[in-house]
Amino acid sequence: MKTPIIFWFRSDLRLADNPGLVAACATGNPVIPVYILDDENPGIWKMGGASRWWLHQSLKALDQSLQDRGFHPLVLLKGDAEKEITKVVSEASASDVFWNRCYEPWAIKRDTAIKDTLKKKGIAVESSAAYLLFEPWLVKNKTGGSYKVFTPFYKTCLENAAMIRKPISTKVKSTLPAKKIKGLKLADLDLMPKIKWYKGMQEFWQPGEAGAQARLQEFLEDGVGQYKAQRDLPAVDGVSRLSPHLHFGEISPHQIWATANHKIDAEGSGSFANHAEGFLRQLFWRDFSWHLLYHDPEFPEQPWNKQFAKFKWQWDEEVTEKWRRGMTGYPIVDAGMRQLWQTGWMHNRVRMIVGSFLVKNLLQHWRAGEDWFWDTLVDADLGNNAAGWQWIAGCGADAAPYFRIFNPVTQSKKFDPDGEYIKTYVPELADLPTEFIHTPWEAPPLIAKTIKSYPSPVVDLAASRDRALEAYAASKTAA
Ligand code: FAD
Repeated sequence: MKTPIIFWFRSDLRLADNPGLVAACATGNPVIPVYILDDENPGIWKMGGASRWWLHQSLKALDQSLQDRGFHPLVLLKGDAEKEITKVVSEASASDVFWNRCYEPWAIKRDTAIKDTLKKKGIAVESSAAYLLFEPWLVKNKTGGSYKVFTPFYKTCLENAAMIRKPISTKVKSTLPAKKIKGLKLADLDLMPKIKWYKGMQEFWQPGEAGAQARLQEFLEDGVGQYKAQRDLPAVDGVSRLSPHLHFGEISPHQIWATANHKIDAEGSGSFANHAEGFLRQLFWRDFSWHLLYHDPEFPEQPWNKQFAKFKWQWDEEVTEKWRRGMTGYPIVDAGMRQLWQTGWMHNRVRMIVGSFLVKNLLQHWRAGEDWFWDTLVDADLGNNAAGWQWIAGCGADAAPYFRIFNPVTQSKKFDPDGEYIKTYVPELADLPTEFIHTPWEAPPLIAKTIKSYPSPVVDLAASRDRALEAYAASKTAA
């Protein structure tokens, strides 16, 4: 009987186009699939609540797919990954461990240590690239350094697009090992919240590889052809909503890249190609975020631009709580925050509006926003979240200049002109005539009476804008 091999699933919860899994199966030895819920190594970046809900569904789907292909059931473990992987290797008498690489600073540190430990025990370790189109260290500027600005980074990626791996067509399968390995039950991972706040998410999403593929196909049929025209309209189903699937690795960026390019080739150059390329460009923002994180491991916690080290961000729990709950009195901000709470996701345009409102109009620390998103987003992703918050706070690489303060009313009128998005998530305002939907405080008393318990604005826009600009000027002087 051949010795079993461990395949350790991490941010790659799929069977198709999974390089590490393909490599493990290619040995011809029985492959034991393992997932470890490691809450010990990430420190403050252990998975948030919404992500845990997603993970529960995704692991369930993965286990089923694995068993359908003849694999040993997914072995679920919980605890420090080094201890757990060492135990399972020894219990299974496995000869090798395969995985796909993760790039969180804590994961790089942990995996390097695990590799060492296993090798010392005579266990072979093989790792592959699966999460990004380009691994963070591969994209280099002309002097061999890392990029700080997106456009040249993107240009270099496109010049090297031929290097982007084609999706692997091999259908993975495995025989069963002689000995069955006992793991935890899915429920023992305790991923599902005690209070059932996830009903909205359940209706909105289909976690797992099949859901990811279905969403990609649907978007390529109905959405991508209008992407650039619709991507900023939160009331329209105009973006892919693939972010949680990408984050959990239920689909690879390579699959998206290849499938979309195939469709571009079939449709010919012209409008479709223009929109689809606009969509594919976003995958490079994702790579760019991880490039920044790789080259600055403190990126999720410290301003990338050190000029902001002395910025006087505030930590006001009362005001931040109004923002978290969608009770700021600015309808577009509140709609976004409630969409996040109900569905675990928020439209990108609205992420920018609520972010700017928190860090500039409310002058709260971007870390407070980053933490809340971490806990409530189903696509919470260390690279993208840090990059998004630092971009909006003005302290990130290639960030929006600090003095660019989004006006939530102007943004709302421009991107949600009829207030459709607002009415979906702020039902108290559903009966308000469109002319007052963006500024309910301006409604005359007779109309204002139709609004049920909606707060007045938490800050004055002009005054808070001035306050933010003053704080910025003071921080520059301090720096
Ligand atoms: P699409 O427009 O369909 O884009 C396709 C894919 O490209 C996305 O799924 C995503 O993987 C990637 N992408 C798109 N926009 C960006 C971007 N600006 N930066 C990096 N990658 C991008 N994205 C996350 O995946 N996780 C996060 O935790 C996260 N936090 C954010 C926080 C803030 C304050 C901001 C402003 C943005 C954040 N983003 C984050 C980026 C972006 O908002 C989401 O990726 C996007 O809204 C996901 O929706 P989609 O899949 O429909 O995107």
